[in-house]
Amino acid sequence: MPLMYSSMPLDRCSNQRNNKRWLDREFSSASARFYLLQDDQHLFDLSDNFRPLLLQRSQLAKLSINSCIFLGKDLGRPFFALDANKLNSDCLASISALGEWQPLRQVTSNLAARDSAILALAKALVYWHKTHLYCGKCASLNQLVEAGHARRCTNIQCHNMTFPRTDPAVIMLVERICNDGVPRCLLGRQASWPAGVFSTLAGFVDPGESLEQAVRREVAEESGIQVTNVTYIDSQPWPFPASIMLGFTAQASSEEIDISKDSLQDAQWFSREQLRQFSARDSASARKGYRMSSADSISHHLIDAWKNQLIGQY
Ligand SMILES: [Zn+2]
Repeated sequence: MPLMYSSMPLDRCSNQRNNKRWLDREFSSASARFYLLQDDQHLFDLSDNFRPLLLQRSQLAKLSINSCIFLGKDLGRPFFALDANKLNSDCLASISALGEWQPLRQVTSNLAARDSAILALAKALVYWHKTHLYCGKCASLNQLVEAGHARRCTNIQCHNMTFPRTDPAVIMLVERICNDGVPRCLLGRQASWPAGVFSTLAGFVDPGESLEQAVRREVAEESGIQVTNVTYIDSQPWPFPASIMLGFTAQASSEEIDISKDSLQDAQWFSREQLRQFSARDSASARKGYRMSSADSISHHLIDAWKNQLIGQY
């Protein structure tokens, strides 16, 4: 089953979107639809099972192509994203009355996979524009260009181009046949997470580091465990705010956990039987309050796949 946020139905038209005449035609099309974001929240029609609310251009007063981000086309219909804070207050108020603003992850479980992917793309790009207002070279204002897929410095002596960034993060299911002969996987939790939630270890890739090196380093830093056989499994767009999660398995060559050198609150080895009890009522694990990471995450996917012996060596 595909991961949430990854089932993109839109054709990004990346060879056409830099053509101004083509883009103007798509923007002016009566079939064009607009996804709005306000302060990292999307507009949903809560009466229709959390369907994302799509706006027509006629509903968006004095809308300029220079403030819109082209997302792609589906069945001939172009889709755009727009930061709602660029609308005047009357227009924003009338549009806000049509639905309800919600953070994407609050409604993910109600969303179709394709909608989650489009909203993730819209969120990532709107966030990137909001956080790259100024040129990183000369600090002049940047402006949106290339249908919202680049920003260019307005200082004509500079004209530095900036492109959307995605921060790579590795996330890994570490397994081991423990000293008692039972296969277990290594999960940890941060103090800021909801009580009882455990997840696979994860961390950002450092500059000048391969993905495999990042897996080995992050596991060692967070848990004191050494790993080998780092194997790529799957990836997931993760615009919270600007990452891609790169999922791996690895085999631990040591067993004693040491969380004293990093930020984890706890880390433990869990057997498949224990993982099966995570969601079971009245089990020992449930009484302890163990819970899985949220169902939209690649962490949940990796743990589930290992529990069902679909990934890993043990
Ligand atoms: Zn500049």
